Amino acid sequence: MNTNRSQAVFSAAQELMPGGVSSPVRAFKSVGGQPIVFDRVKGSYAWDVDGNRFIDYVGSWGPAICGHAHPEVIAALQEALEKGTSFGAPCELENKLAEMVIEAVPSVEMVRFVNSGTEACMAVLRLMRAFTGRDKVIKFEGCYHGHADMFLVKAGSGVATLGLPDSPGVPRSTTSNTLTAPYNDLEAVKELFAENPDAICGVILEPVVGNAGFITPEPGFLEGLREVTKENGALLVFDEVMTGFRISYGGAQARFGVTPDLTTMGKVIGGGLPVGAYGGRKEIMSMVSPAGPMYQAGTLSGNPLAMTAGIKTLELLRQEGSYDKLESTTQKLFAGIQSAAKSAGLPFTGSSISAMFGFYLCEGPVRNFEEAKSADTERFGKLHKAMLERGIYLAPSAFEAGFTSLAHSEDDINSTIKAFQESFAEIA
Ligand SMILES: *Cc1c(COP(=O)(O)O)cnc(C)c1O
Repeated sequence: MNTNRSQAVFSAAQELMPGGVSSPVRAFKSVGGQPIVFDRVKGSYAWDVDGNRFIDYVGSWGPAICGHAHPEVIAALQEALEKGTSFGAPCELENKLAEMVIEAVPSVEMVRFVNSGTEACMAVLRLMRAFTGRDKVIKFEGCYHGHADMFLVKAGSGVATLGLPDSPGVPRSTTSNTLTAPYNDLEAVKELFAENPDAICGVILEPVVGNAGFITPEPGFLEGLREVTKENGALLVFDEVMTGFRISYGGAQARFGVTPDLTTMGKVIGGGLPVGAYGGRKEIMSMVSPAGPMYQAGTLSGNPLAMTAGIKTLELLRQEGSYDKLESTTQKLFAGIQSAAKSAGLPFTGSSISAMFGFYLCEGPVRNFEEAKSADTERFGKLHKAMLERGIYLAPSAFEAGFTSLAHSEDDINSTIKAFQESFAEIA
């Protein structure tokens, strides 16, 4: 595979932007080697600047669930473009997307649009605090809620501990209100509530974790969180930036039948344009300015171009059979990966739900981030390279979920499984 042009572009980029990228994980740091510079994307494919084609399982980190550059999304965008890209005034398209989100997501009665998942999570925490009048929040080790200060906390090992900042520049005073617990550990959460009576505004989590590989909630975990938050007068928040409209049309909350108080969304909801959103019960959302006193604003929020991409994407997704197709495509892919790993005699554990899958190169089970860390990351780096050479683009980290789309065909899946068989054999 010739990647000369990618290498030249990326070398130049490193002088221009920190690490040569606009977002860290794109830089291939955790798998080694140089990143591939994309030229264009279409359907399930990405082409790099050297003309190589890849079957893409990153999907722009989630938004491309209908396939990249879907013709209907592009056509709708072209039409919207003629009317202008940003109004800075109310726009009817906001009503339309809001109605669609409210209809789809069980917890959402009212919604505020923002421009990214980070923004949605940052605002939702302000809202949790404003509504309850309490400052402390519980998050889980290995869950990502964007890069706002309060969420940049790595948990201590094993037991729940007070959060220490994960990045320089984050004041201790900011994260001292962030309590952490291991994922799937309801007892740890109960202890935190007992140790901090009337001080915790709520619990925020990825209802299925996609930012520490792929970790699913154990039976009873989400239900238990629903109960313990209610008992303590605290809010339950599902960060569905990744899982929203992916785990099912109504997100993980619809799939698992547990309704949080508030929900954050992003990725799919923008259909490839920058959109985030948070929503929940009317009583809580009415705190948000200008209906209520909690301030939050955005110059480009709800702009007509972003709303258009979101609306068209959701329209495509809610067509009969979309999620059955996503589920069967992903199941077939995952079964193929699993049996390829087994044939190669590699330690392997993983699973898939709907249009999301993930695996770790270690013996399972993986129920939390601590267990995920036993995965062989060096070997994953080799796997990533071997797959890339065979035209398969996987997320460049052992701790990211994989994404399928409506555009992934039977042929794509078969070629991908074949590439896994060869690659696993090569790295075994
Ligand atoms: C991607 C992600 C975010 C952050 O969204 P951005 O749009 O990248 O700011 C927050 N939470 C979860 C669960 C995510 O996967």
